[in-house]
Order: sequence, then structure tokens, then C-alpha cells
Amino acid sequence: MTIHATAIIDAERITGTGRPIEVVDPSTEAVIAEVAEADDALVDRAVASARAAFERGEWSRASVEQRQAVLRACADAIDAAADRIADVECANTGIPYAQVRNGQVVRAAGNFRFFADYIGQMTAELYEQDPLYLTYVRREPVGVAALISPWNSPLALGSMKVASAIAFGNSCVLKPAEQDPLGLTMLIDAIQGAGLPAGVVNLVNGFGASVGDRLVRHPDVDCVSFTGGTRTGRIIMSAAGANLKPSIVELGGKSANIIFDDADFEAALDGALIGIFSNNGQQCLAGSRVLVQRGIYKQFVEAFVERTRKVRVGDPRDAATEIGPLATRQHYAHVMSFVPAISDGGARILAGGGRAPGFERGFYFQPTIAEVESNAHRLCQEEIFGPFAAIMPFDTDEDAYRIANESRFGLVGYAWSRDIARVMEAQERISAGTIWCNTPMFRDLRAPFGGFRESGVGAEGGRAAEAFYTRQKAVSIPR
Ligand code: NAD
Repeated sequence: MTIHATAIIDAERITGTGRPIEVVDPSTEAVIAEVAEADDALVDRAVASARAAFERGEWSRASVEQRQAVLRACADAIDAAADRIADVECANTGIPYAQVRNGQVVRAAGNFRFFADYIGQMTAELYEQDPLYLTYVRREPVGVAALISPWNSPLALGSMKVASAIAFGNSCVLKPAEQDPLGLTMLIDAIQGAGLPAGVVNLVNGFGASVGDRLVRHPDVDCVSFTGGTRTGRIIMSAAGANLKPSIVELGGKSANIIFDDADFEAALDGALIGIFSNNGQQCLAGSRVLVQRGIYKQFVEAFVERTRKVRVGDPRDAATEIGPLATRQHYAHVMSFVPAISDGGARILAGGGRAPGFERGFYFQPTIAEVESNAHRLCQEEIFGPFAAIMPFDTDEDAYRIANESRFGLVGYAWSRDIARVMEAQERISAGTIWCNTPMFRDLRAPFGGFRESGVGAEGGRAAEAFYTRQKAVSIPR
């Protein structure tokens, strides 16, 4: 067992003495590391370090070229440490190695490169209509950002928050999820040597209700960016609001995947499988309600079930594995708790439906499909956040939109059809922040990613990040 850093403050790794957090490998259930929680004094020190760095101005007032060079060097540092980070992340999260190494780590480095490019393209408002005065709008960094990330995709989501906060000149304190802090802690450690002034990027490890809460309510924090569950999002937004701090909250989802009868059948089938089973099914943007038009329903269900039964569940380190274990014992119990819902009536199991066979240890859950009679069923209304799809038929396009929108969530909508008019109708009628037409999960970082209703408030990506991580200042001068 290794002891990992409690905090990274002023570019220094600190191993604290606070409450121990046991970090578990979900494939073996073995404790693989211990992290001592940051105590109140360390959290305060991290915020003070971020504040001091901000006020010194080496970063907050650095030229765009200087920040671009450092952001690119951060990306290079992540590339250089990629194998090491991926090994640890795979062991800590249970996400298949290939998805971590070729997906999350690459994406993490890409986030820094994206924002390096983005700040080189920023434009500004200028008003010269007045004969006597010229007015323009400056965008300045906000100050110290508190960044709170979840356990399901730590590297991709945590790095997105850090890269977007610092690109615009802010300093930050990141708190990774307590369940799998190792990869993100290594990543933040790796970028410290990339030319960032000390204190621009700090990290504190610990639990949400203690370290997270202290960070969010800290008087010296200027804005809060959170990704996680809807319940926590409400708490965080209220805490930030009470102190008049801007916040973005990226929350849960229960997205509809609509497959019309004129869809490219094989593409839609592949898309439905990717939509529900990638990242071990632990994705906010999962297409977890599969709605299939009546005419192709039977044929689609047969093919979906057949392919689902072939999905390879296994050790995440094994290159052949497509689905690893769920991330934690608690989450395994949560996903399992939906199994009784199947026999309670209104649903029936078509594939999977419990613990993956052949595993004595580990939080392995079988890829599962349940056919539901109504969208009101619990399997359609609650976020399961595992490899667990609900499927149901629909008759008309109107039915599909009604069902898709009968949800307190509104993160993503998927639509599959060969008819461009139908696709255009779908993108308008589905009420969600991102719509994927005839493709699963394409993410252009320039576009905003945020949810409607209980899926969140605010967005990340490109201009949305610029709006959140900067404040506007109107300047008028005589001409
Ligand atoms: P969670 O809300 O329990 O925890 C997320 C983070 O918040 C963790 O770091 C946790 O320690 C911290 N936290 C918990 N309570 C806190 C408090 N009172 N104050 C401050 N911080 C606190 O969420 P989770 O279960 O770890 O993550 C899964 C959820 O995240 C799912 O609902 C999923 O849909 C959602 N998610 C959303 C997106 C998105 O972009 N919309 C992306 C990924 C995950």
C-alpha cells in the first residue's frame, strides 16, 4: 500500500495526518493506497496559496502567449506521464485500460491544448458609435476557483475544470472525488513542473461534506465549478449562492436514445451499445433509455440483446475487456438496488440483471437490458449510472418526443434516422443540452456542455467557460 499526497499546495506535495481515506481497487476489492484527508488548515492554506498567486499577477496578468506556452507544456507533461497515470487510474477506477489510456488521459492533455488554442482566438466587444468616446469590454479572470470533480471520469472531467479555469488567468483549488483521487493527484503533480507559477493549481484531497464543503463556502473563493450528483449540486449551488459566488453545476442524466424505423440499423445498434456500456456505464451522458420505433422494435431488441450478451466483462487491465467493475462497493449496491425493480412489475429482464458470473471478488455487474412498459417506471426515471439500459417501443414521432422529455433530467438526447427532416425535428424537440444525431458521444470542446432542468445549471467548454471564468469590465475613453 502506498501513501499518496493529501494536498499539492504551492507546487509542493503534502502528506497530511488527517482522517485516512482508503483507496480501493474495485476489481479486487483490495485497499491499494491510503490518502490522509486535508484538514481545515490545509484547505485554508490551499485557498491562500491560490489567492496569493492570483494577486502576484505572474499568471493572472501574464500575456496570452505566456499562458499558451505553459498550457501546452502542461499537456506535454501529461503525455510524458501518460502510461504511469493510466496504470494507476485503471487500478483505481476499474475503467478498462484502453479507455483510460487512449481516452481519458489523451483527453486530459487535449483539454490543456484546447484552451491554449482558445485563448489565442478570443475576441472583444468595441463600441465606437459615440463621436466622443470609445468603449470596449475587457475580460478579466475572476480570481480563485474551487473545482469539485466526481469519481466516474476523474481525469477527463478534473482536467477540463483545471484547464478552463487557469487558461483565463485564474488560480484554482481542485478537490477530486474521495473514491478515486489517485490519477488526478498524479496528473496535477505532473503539471507542476510545466512552468505554472506556484499556487496557480492546488489540490486538496478529502470527503465532500468536509473538505468540499469548506472549499465551496470559503470566503476567499470567487467561483465554484462542480460536476457530480443532483443532490450535491443543490447543496453546492445554495452554498455558493448564499455567498453570491457564481457557480456551474454539471449533474446527472437519464437520456433518451430515440431510434426511428428509418435509422441505419447497424449504426444505431453500435451507438446504443456505446451509449450505455462505455466507461462501465458510469456516464452522465449515457443513452440509458432506449426508445425504438414499433416497426423495428422486435428486430432491434433481438440484436441489442445478442450483442449485449457478448460484451466482455473482465479485469480492466486485460486488453480484451470492454466492461470492468463498477467503481465502488457503495455504487455496486446502488446499481444492484434496481434489480428488484425489474420483478416488481412493469419491467422484464432481457439480458444480464445482476452480478457478472465468474467473479468471486470485485464490483462486477453484468451488462443489463430491461424492457419497460412505461416511462413512468423507476428504471426510466432514476439515474442508475451503470451498464443498465431500459428499452421500450414507441409508435409515432410525437410519442418519442413526449417520452424523451418526460424526465426531470435534460442532459443529452440521441436520435437516429436517415431522414434529415426527421433529424432536424428531433434536435428541436428533444429538451436537453446536447443532442447527438446519428452519432454517439461526439464532443466538440468549443460547444457548451451543460444540462437542462435537474441536469445542471451553466455549461463547460469554449465560450461557456470564457463567460464563467472571466468577468467583464466596460472601459470608456475619450477618442
Ligand atoms: P457526488 O455529488 O456524490 O460527488 C461529486 C463530488 O462532490 C465529489 O468530489 C464529492 O466529494 C463532492 N461533494 C460531495 N458532497 C459535497 C458537499 N456537500 N460540498 C462540496 N463537495 C461535495 O457525485 P458522484 O456520485 O461522485 O458522481 C456521480 C454523479 O455525477 C452522477 O449523477 C453523474 O451523472 C454526475 N456527472 C455529471 C456530469 C456532467 O457533466 N453533467 C459528468 C459526470 C458525472
